[in-house]
Amino acid sequence: MSQQYAHQRLSPPGASIENERAAVRRLRRDVDGAVLVPFEAAYESERQAPYSDIDPRPVAVVMATGPADVRTALATAREHDLPFAVQGTGHGTHAASDGGILVKTAQLAGVLVDPVRQVARVGAGAVWEQVIAAAAPLGLAPLAGSHQSVGVAGYTLGGGIGWLSRAYGFAADSVLRAEVVTADGRLLTASADSHPDLFWAMRGGGGNFGVVTSLEFRLHPVARVFAGAAFFPGERAADLLTRYRDWIESVPDALSSAVLLTRLPHDRRVPAGLRGRPGVVVQVMYDGPGEEAGRLLAPLFEVVGPPLLQTFGTGAFGEMDMGGTGPAHVNLLDTLPDEVIDVLVRAATRPGSPVSGVEIRHWGGAMGRPGPHAGPIGHRTARLSAILDARLPEVEAVMRPHTGGRAFLNFLHDPANAVAAYTPADHRRLRGVKRAYDPDNVFRLNYNIPPA
Ligand SMILES: Cc1cc2nc3c(=O)[nH]c(=O)nc-3n(C[C@H](O)[C@H](O)[C@H](O)COP(=O)(O)OP(=O)(O)OC[C@H]3O[C@@H](n4cnc5c(N)ncnc54)[C@H](O)[C@@H]3O)c2cc1C
Repeated sequence: MSQQYAHQRLSPPGASIENERAAVRRLRRDVDGAVLVPFEAAYESERQAPYSDIDPRPVAVVMATGPADVRTALATAREHDLPFAVQGTGHGTHAASDGGILVKTAQLAGVLVDPVRQVARVGAGAVWEQVIAAAAPLGLAPLAGSHQSVGVAGYTLGGGIGWLSRAYGFAADSVLRAEVVTADGRLLTASADSHPDLFWAMRGGGGNFGVVTSLEFRLHPVARVFAGAAFFPGERAADLLTRYRDWIESVPDALSSAVLLTRLPHDRRVPAGLRGRPGVVVQVMYDGPGEEAGRLLAPLFEVVGPPLLQTFGTGAFGEMDMGGTGPAHVNLLDTLPDEVIDVLVRAATRPGSPVSGVEIRHWGGAMGRPGPHAGPIGHRTARLSAILDARLPEVEAVMRPHTGGRAFLNFLHDPANAVAAYTPADHRRLRGVKRAYDPDNVFRLNYNIPPA
């Protein structure tokens, strides 16, 4: 654990109970939403960071009902010199709000879809499931990720990669405007015409530049898709990955795929002796007819033969349950050299290995073709990501020369390592924007970008 991270876990120097009580009194007087404090049942559930090993203990949790509550909470934190943090779902919270004020946006969850402009306007507390449900009847889809319970705001501010990203880019690339409360308490609109520097930084720079209260972004004309997975025995993993590395170069942007090295399911369609044994799974989503997908997949599958089990079918985008790996130990790659395939397969199949899941995802397509004003999503030219659910030194040693230390903000584990998610030029520019909008680094309980 880095020193910076350790420091974030402590109450600030000089914190006094009287000061904290005064802050809570002020919040209770001036905030419309609930103000939750220690030992209340709702405080215990709202303060959690369920995907992290931190155990945050803020002085108060503010259930914001609108931008005014966010501004009051921020002003209170600043005037009482208390740390400040914001959270939607908690999926991406890795820095503890100990001794501070935690604003929760869950109640700002309105979703409006404009079918003519093909645009969604959502409150900062919305989750993808709500946007998918509102857009689907109009034959539209957002650039959601693998889990529909993830929050739109945190996901999008960190870039956002999903099953439609090869076709339409990162979620941040579709953002048109954001309403944001900045560190000095202003409620600004960030768009191409209004605070364009802030607008640039927020589309990939995470929660560093203000509290987003609403976001407007493009939806895409995706109604029904072909999707599912094919399961093969683990001993075919190396052959399949070797073919996969060449095959991905020939597929259209409308086809997204990932290879998982995992355990075969306890499903009666899998031979009894193989259930729970190492397996290799190909996940696919294709925005086009199933027969075309079959033709595209044939050269990949010919190397491994018929699957033990397959779940392919056609359905509405949001109904295709693709699952996928959440953030863990991520490596960005330009190709899959033999030694990388070897070490990943060994890590996933060796008895007693701490690694029980590896996801190799195909990037590229529209993600690698940003418009001239696209935001700072660092390593757009990466062709693949390899995500492991555990850290293993032998894997890291083999991967290092091929990853160049690159990371993707949404999949980072260590909040002190945000620099790895950007090119050096973008990181410098981000630090400049940070100095302009948050010179005191009020928004630091995140994947932090310090002011220049
Ligand atoms: C199971 C799982 C699956 C995932 N799948 C994907 C995936 O497919 N693709 C992908 O790109 N990512 C994925 N992620 C990563 C996810 O996008 C990030 O964890 C993201 O930060 C979650 O956002 P949230 O709002 O749900 O989380 P929160 O924990 O609520 O927020 C995370 C951070 O975002 C910032 N933030 C949140 N709301 C605001 C706001 N209103 N204003 C300013 N800053 C804000 C804050 O810095 C906060 O600390 C996944 C995560 C999990 C746990």
